[in-house]
Amino acid sequence: YRAKNGGGGRYCMFSDELANEHQRKVDTEAALSEAVQRGEFVLALQPQLSLATGEINGAEALLRWNHPKDGLRMPATFIPIAEQTGIISEIGDWVIAEVASMLAEAQARGVMRRIAFNVSPRQLDRADFFQRLRATFSDAGVPLSMVELEFTETAAMECSESVLEEISALRRDGAFVAIDDFGTGYSNLARLRAMPLDRVKLDPSLIADIETSEKARIVVQAVIQLIKGVGAEIVAEAVESVGQADILRAMGCETVQGYVFAQPMFEQEFLSWTSNADRHSRSVA
Ligand code: C2E
Ligand code: MG
Ligand code: MG
Ligand code: MG
Repeated sequence: YRAKNGGGGRYCMFSDELANEHQRKVDTEAALSEAVQRGEFVLALQPQLSLATGEINGAEALLRWNHPKDGLRMPATFIPIAEQTGIISEIGDWVIAEVASMLAEAQARGVMRRIAFNVSPRQLDRADFFQRLRATFSDAGVPLSMVELEFTETAAMECSESVLEEISALRRDGAFVAIDDFGTGYSNLARLRAMPLDRVKLDPSLIADIETSEKARIVVQAVIQLIKGVGAEIVAEAVESVGQADILRAMGCETVQGYVFAQPMFEQEFLSWTSNADRHSRSVA
């Protein structure tokens, strides 16, 4: 049995721990189906900054679950279960509606350029996904140019022709499209070239040791060249040190997202953080 959290390695869990783990999964499954109705989800926003100017380009919306018993639960503890059961579709609809309402408010106040959100491949199983997404933003009066959809590398490579056409149409209407966790899935390079695509987010594992490993730097530089070659921008995720940011900037990476600049924050904290943007800009550029 491989431990999901912690320092890695394998160890055997005692059977009561296994039973607890199983019970937790069963509890989560049952609770997830009611959590949307009960309003237990909340989005955190993590700023994305331009490495050249330090400006805030936008933010990624990251789901948190205010669990009645466990407190705040992170996506890793429930997204996989939500995907297995298909409940991710309802949760995803809530995420899109919440992003639309945050953007509607932000637009009225003239703050915030764009919000990116994660789309699970299971959400695309519903034929009317794109139609409903469009309706949600247009009902909220939010232009698609304030919206960015993130698909994981594997999901992007596996989606059908008709989904690709829908994604292309969204982009024509102003939306941004990103591939998430690039470098952990498998990419068909012909497909990558043809993908309707604005940005690629490098997986944290690619950049983790660029400060100490020359091999890591060579790989990242090659990946950046490849991505730019297909006309997309680079976003580096989970940037934890100024040293990493400096190397990435020198390599031509446009945007960073990471604890070194800002953690994911709830809406109010995010808004006050962005209103102090000048101070933060200077710390990046
Ligand atoms: P992701 O989309 O790749 O999101 C980036 C993750 O990296 C987030 O974890 C973020 O908090 C974390 N992160 C950001 N900066 C740093 C850093 O400097 N260091 C480190 N170590 N981590 C950093 P989080 O919020 O726990 O989300 C984990 C994953 O859960 C996301 O990975 C995404 O795949 C999934 N997820 C989150 N929200 C949603 C959602 O609304 N829908 C779906 N389908 N999946 C979601
Ligand atoms: Mg609100
Ligand atoms: Mg993401
Ligand atoms: Mg990612």
